[in-house]
Amino acid sequence: MEIYKSRIAEKIDIHTHVFADTDCILHLMDRHSVERSVVLVMGMDSPDALEYNESICLKLARAHPDRLAAMVTFDLSRIDEPTHCASEIERLERGKEAGAVGVKVAKELGLFARDAAGDLIEVDDPRLDPIWNKAGELKLPVLIHIADPPAYWRPVDENNPWRRLLGDMPGWIYHGRENFPGFEDLMRRRDSILRKHPDTTFIGAHLGSLAWDMDVKGVAALLDEFPNLYVDASAVVDQVGRHPEDTRELFIKYADRIMHGTDLIVMSVWETDAEIARWVDEMGHYNSTIFRFYETSDTIPTTHQEQRQWEITGINLPDDVLQKIYYENADKMINNK
Ligand SMILES: [Zn+2]
Repeated sequence: MEIYKSRIAEKIDIHTHVFADTDCILHLMDRHSVERSVVLVMGMDSPDALEYNESICLKLARAHPDRLAAMVTFDLSRIDEPTHCASEIERLERGKEAGAVGVKVAKELGLFARDAAGDLIEVDDPRLDPIWNKAGELKLPVLIHIADPPAYWRPVDENNPWRRLLGDMPGWIYHGRENFPGFEDLMRRRDSILRKHPDTTFIGAHLGSLAWDMDVKGVAALLDEFPNLYVDASAVVDQVGRHPEDTRELFIKYADRIMHGTDLIVMSVWETDAEIARWVDEMGHYNSTIFRFYETSDTIPTTHQEQRQWEITGINLPDDVLQKIYYENADKMINNK
């Protein structure tokens, strides 16, 4: 498989997931001159999953401090308990002491996490306010992923660009679900946290969840409204690549506020060098599609042809913009520069 070789030497990947006790992500980083990756702790809705994933991510960051950094998270499952807030604030403090560079908030908040009464925990639930404030105090940016592509709320028919993906992942079909929040409501509540906590820095995952359905102008409006907001561009090229002119304009205008990320996932421990090599090849192809999209005007197949059977067009960004997006913005953010 042809691999596009990036022309920019240094990169930080702000958005990765490692669920297995392995450092094979380093092989992939070496292949693509990715100097550092940020591994995001998941499991807000399940204390056991959270503890396990936190231990893996912090161990990796400790073992490879110059290559890997972790963002910790907090538990939502005990939100009704009177000690919840204090104990989750302590968790963030422990994370900071262990070298964490931020706080990850996953889409469980707003979509799935429920309190003891079985009610959805709203994104802007006031019980979480002290946690957002604490993150700001500790200078831990909050990488926040709220909602999913709006198409997940629409019928899965031939007009839905995500029908193949939703066919594989029926748990993500939100159309017709009872007592399920709407996309607009989730965005409104996310915005209300950004407004209420101006001294906390937020990084909106996936272009602030507005890259979906090519709402590139919405991303600009969001960045204009909230100076405490940055965005990562993980897992969006297949969408925004359908609108290369608008996307190019956005990336150039907001070059100081956008960060490179892949959303790559390490699920298994590979036993042999051959297995690792195969994974690095596979993921290497995914990464190189992203680099080719940023760096050329080529017409490119999407990152997942089996699910997304269209082509995207590269946005050919100038080198100074690439350097900011690939490296400088994240370097300032995670090193508190
Ligand atoms: Zn992710």
